[in-house]
Amino acid sequence: MTQKPREPVRVVVLGGGTAGWMTAAGIAALLPDLATVELVESDDIGIIGVGEATLPHIRGFVERLGIDEAAFMKATHATYKLGIDFRDFGRIGESYIHPFGTFGEKVADVGFHHYWLEMQRRGMAGSLGDYSFAVGAARANRFAPPEMGEGLGSTYGYAYQFDATLFGPFMRQHGLKLGVTRHEGLVTGVERDGENGNVTALVLQDGRRIEGDLFVDCSGFRSLLLGGEMAEEWEDWTHWLPCDRAAAMPCAHVDGEPLRPYTTATAMPAGWRWQIPLQHRMGNGYVFSSAHLDEDRACEAIRNAAEGEPLADPRVLRFRPGRRRKSWSHNVIGVGLSSGFLEPLESTSIYLAQMAITYLIELFPDGRAIDPRDRAAFNRLVDMEYDRVRDFLILHYHATTRDDSEFWNHLRTMTVPDSLAEKMALWRETGRVERYEDGLFYDASWIAVYVGQGLLPERHDPRAAIADPERVKGALDSLRHAITAQVDAMPDHRAYLRREAGRLADAA
Ligand SMILES: Cc1cc2nc3c(=O)[nH]c(=O)nc-3n(C[C@H](O)[C@H](O)[C@H](O)COP(=O)(O)OP(=O)(O)OC[C@H]3O[C@@H](n4cnc5c(N)ncnc54)[C@H](O)[C@@H]3O)c2cc1C
Repeated sequence: MTQKPREPVRVVVLGGGTAGWMTAAGIAALLPDLATVELVESDDIGIIGVGEATLPHIRGFVERLGIDEAAFMKATHATYKLGIDFRDFGRIGESYIHPFGTFGEKVADVGFHHYWLEMQRRGMAGSLGDYSFAVGAARANRFAPPEMGEGLGSTYGYAYQFDATLFGPFMRQHGLKLGVTRHEGLVTGVERDGENGNVTALVLQDGRRIEGDLFVDCSGFRSLLLGGEMAEEWEDWTHWLPCDRAAAMPCAHVDGEPLRPYTTATAMPAGWRWQIPLQHRMGNGYVFSSAHLDEDRACEAIRNAAEGEPLADPRVLRFRPGRRRKSWSHNVIGVGLSSGFLEPLESTSIYLAQMAITYLIELFPDGRAIDPRDRAAFNRLVDMEYDRVRDFLILHYHATTRDDSEFWNHLRTMTVPDSLAEKMALWRETGRVERYEDGLFYDASWIAVYVGQGLLPERHDPRAAIADPERVKGALDSLRHAITAQVDAMPDHRAYLRREAGRLADAA
């Protein structure tokens, strides 16, 4: 039996920042006959314009939307990212890279890290990062795309570091090409159905009305529809993630310095600071807790710490860590900052917006009526994503020996969410990482951070101790040498960008 074609769902997106244009372009590209998309944005309000580092998942999104990587990188002055270098987090003076890649390989069903732990205990292994291709390439400032197949060159992924002020406009152009209708203007009113409470139209300052069936709130921290109209409660996570400000200051690159294919996060007395290398400049910012440091002192700290000529004065951004209790309420769906925000330590915000879009597309109404089961499923999935990211972020602060400031003392000694306490106990007692299918951050990420922060387990898989240590050492050594040899043959990151026609912006 053939299904009767439905009337397309009229989607209205409020907000033209990264989240808004990603949503509009995503729906227009992936649900072409099932939805029409209109987007309202206000030039007077503008976009937040920060958010420069991403996760590898963004590549799939860019690809699914039919965007050419080279054109995208050129337009957003993007560089490649192989992971994040965390400095001074577990202990001042120590650093580790959380790579977008694996460490070694399983042998006889036993995870590589168990062998590494055994060999480390015997004093026969290097640092864990020595056995990761992504870490090797990052440390050497080299880049080439991963290879297909099973070889060493296939054991990593990559993301982008781009100019956030250029990403939204790039997505806008793409969205317009896909048929999104754009309205410029300030939304000052919202009309709702008196019976079911659904939003029926947005009203602009000049009187224009934009009607729709489904409203996606991408209005940023204002959260006009989800937080405002729907009054969806905010779950505040400041007690676990006290950073609630950032002082951002772009700088010129330091002459002669290599272009790093990774983000650097350096712990500070009241938070941490980022360095994100773009083609044409270095993004810098101090993410800090206002309960432990005032804004003027944070600006002074970032001025003192940043290398390279400042290109602007520090700009302070304020935020609250947490999320709305529901991201989909009635016919309003929050995507991006309107639905929640977790500080940028692991560059997860654009990923969370992307996943909300992906889930919305999967659970998109079949016709104009919304199935409450789809709404509930969406809310469960979004909550799961936020919870996983939250726990992972807290780990970076909690698993530390730092006792040099009130900020670190608070984080080191606080009670963490039960879900994280259980994960940490499992690791500590068995060397195992909690398994899950969905959501962000799998084994290699947790292992990188546990080990990097100095949290080594009391036990590991006993099978790793049965193997002949000399043979295991031989295998570890050959892996390390193979990584070094293959990394040495890779092009320098900047050279790769230059060589690959069309990726380098004119300004770079
Ligand atoms: C300090 C900091 C660092 C960050 N770093 C990262 C990072 O490294 N990686 C990462 O993934 N994310 C990062 N983020 C998050 C990232 O910036 C956001 O997730 C992303 O930019 C999406 O923002 P948005 O589109 O939700 O909101 P916005 O960019 O604020 O857009 C809001 C839109 O709503 C419109 N609007 C609002 N009110 C009205 C109205 N009344 N009428 C009409 N239009 C209206 C505005 O015009 C604008 O177009 C960072 C955030 C902060 C604060």
